[in-house]
Amino acid sequence: MTPLPVQLPAQELVSWGREKRGPHRILSLPTRHAPFPAWGVGVESILAVGNGRSYGDSGLNVGQGAIPMGGLDRFIAFDPVDGRLRCEAGVLIDDILRLTVPLGWFLNVTPGTRFVTVGGSIANDVHGKNHHLTGSFGCHVTRLELLRSDGERRECSPTQNSDWFAATIGGLGLTGIVTWVELRLRRINGPFLATESMRFNNLNEFMALSDESDATHEYTVAWIDGTAVGARRGRGIFFRATHSAALAEGAPSPSRRTLTRPLTLPFTPPLPLVNSLSVKAFNQLYFHRHPSTPRRATQHYEPFFYPLDSVLEWNRIYGPKGFHQYQCLIPASHGSEPIDRLLDEIGRAGGGSFLAVLKRFGTPVSPGMLSFPRPGLTLAMDFPETGAGLHALFQRLDAIVAEAGGRLYPAKDSRMPADLFRSGYPQLEQFVAFKDPQMSSGFWRRVME
Ligand SMILES: Cc1cc2nc3c(=O)[nH]c(=O)nc-3n(C[C@H](O)[C@H](O)[C@H](O)COP(=O)(O)OP(=O)(O)OC[C@H]3O[C@@H](n4cnc5c(N)ncnc54)[C@H](O)[C@@H]3O)c2cc1C
Repeated sequence: MTPLPVQLPAQELVSWGREKRGPHRILSLPTRHAPFPAWGVGVESILAVGNGRSYGDSGLNVGQGAIPMGGLDRFIAFDPVDGRLRCEAGVLIDDILRLTVPLGWFLNVTPGTRFVTVGGSIANDVHGKNHHLTGSFGCHVTRLELLRSDGERRECSPTQNSDWFAATIGGLGLTGIVTWVELRLRRINGPFLATESMRFNNLNEFMALSDESDATHEYTVAWIDGTAVGARRGRGIFFRATHSAALAEGAPSPSRRTLTRPLTLPFTPPLPLVNSLSVKAFNQLYFHRHPSTPRRATQHYEPFFYPLDSVLEWNRIYGPKGFHQYQCLIPASHGSEPIDRLLDEIGRAGGGSFLAVLKRFGTPVSPGMLSFPRPGLTLAMDFPETGAGLHALFQRLDAIVAEAGGRLYPAKDSRMPADLFRSGYPQLEQFVAFKDPQMSSGFWRRVME
C-alpha cells in the first residue's frame, strides 16, 4: 500500500520494563473487516500493538507507526458444548475468563498476567505453568485470520496455510495483523485450584520435585532466590496445583481475597524501591517464612495464576530508569548445570530482584517457527536498570546461555545481541520469507538490521 500524505497523531508508548519508550504515529483499524490502514508522512513501518505487557522493544516501533488493537475486543462465537471460542484479537485473557469460567471452561494456556490480548499471546506464543502438559498458547489456536499490508486476508490453521500459521504463532507481530482467532478451551469444575508449596534447598531438589510433580500436577513452577550464594544457591519454593472441584474443608473463602479491587501504584518513585539490600532481605524472609513442611491450600485462579496483577502498574517500583527481565531457556540435554552457573553469576553480582522464576518446560512441540519454548529449563529474573555493571552481567549470562545452545525470550528482551538471537532460533531464515515487508519493531531492527 502506498503511504498517503497524512499527518498522523503521535503518542508515546512505553514498554512494560519502562526502559524503552518513544513516540509512535497512531493508525486505527476500526473493525476487523476494515482494510489495512493507510499510513502517513514519515512512517516507514507499522506494528500492531496489544496491551503493552512485553517488557522490551518487541512491542514498540519508536518513531514509526503503531496500530493499537484494543478496539478489536468483540467475542464472535462461543460453543459451550465443545469449548471453541472465536474472538477478535484485541480481546484480553481476562475478558475470556470472565465469560467462560462461570460456564466451566478455562484457557489451555495462560501467562502470568491476565491483562494481555489474544493477539499478543499469539505473537509471542506465550507459555504458562502447565507447559509440561499442554505446551504453548499456539498449540490451542485452531484458526486465525491474518491481514497483510497488501490488503490480502489469509485464514490460517494447522492444516490451511499451515506455513503462514507456523510463522505467525510466535511471529512477533511481523507477519501481518491478526484480526480474529479461534481457540480451543478446556473443561474445569470451578474457579478453584488445589495448591501445594514446599521449600527446596538446591537445584537437585528442584529437579526431583519437577520429576515427581510434572507427572501428577497440571501446574508446576518455582520461585528461586537469586541472591543466595554458596551452599544456599539454587534454593527456592516450589508451587504445584491442579484444578479442583471443591473447596478444602476449613480453607478461608478464596473469593473474598480475589474480589478485592487491584491496587494501583499511584506514581513512579524517583528512586527504585528495589535495591540489592531490600531484595536480599525480602528473599531471606520469603524463603524462611514458608514452613519447612509442604503447605496446602485451595485458591481461586486469580491469585494463583496472576499474583502480580493485584498491584496494577507494579512495574513502576523500579523507578524512572525501569528494569529488565532476563528470561532464558537452557535445553534439557544440559540439565541444571548451566542454571547453577547463571545463579552463581547473578548471586555474586549482588543484583536481581525478588521476581525470579524457574520452570521446566516439557516435550509438547510449539507450532511457531520462532516460538520460545522447547524442552528444558527456563529461568526468568527481573533486574532494575543500573547501568554498565548490569549489562556486563548480562553479557556473562548470555555466554552461558549460548554455550548451552540456549535462547532468550524476545517478549522480555530489550538488549539481546543479534548473534544470540540467530543462534537461538534456527528457523529464523525460514521465518524471514513470511515477514510482512511493511511491518517492523524496535526489536526486529535491533537484531536484524
Ligand atoms: C506480569 C507479567 C507476567 C508475564 N508472564 C508471562 C508468562 O508466564 N509467560 C509468557 O510467555 N509471557 C509472559 N509475559 C509476557 C506477555 O505474556 C507477552 O509479552 C505478551 O505477548 C503480551 O501481550 P500484549 O497483549 O500486552 O501485547 P504487546 O506486548 O502489546 O505486544 C506483543 C507482541 O504482540 C504483537 N501483537 C499484538 N497484537 C497483535 C495482533 N492483533 N496482530 C499481530 N501482532 C500483534 C505485537 O506486535 C508485539 O510483537 C508476562 C508479562 C507480564 C507483564
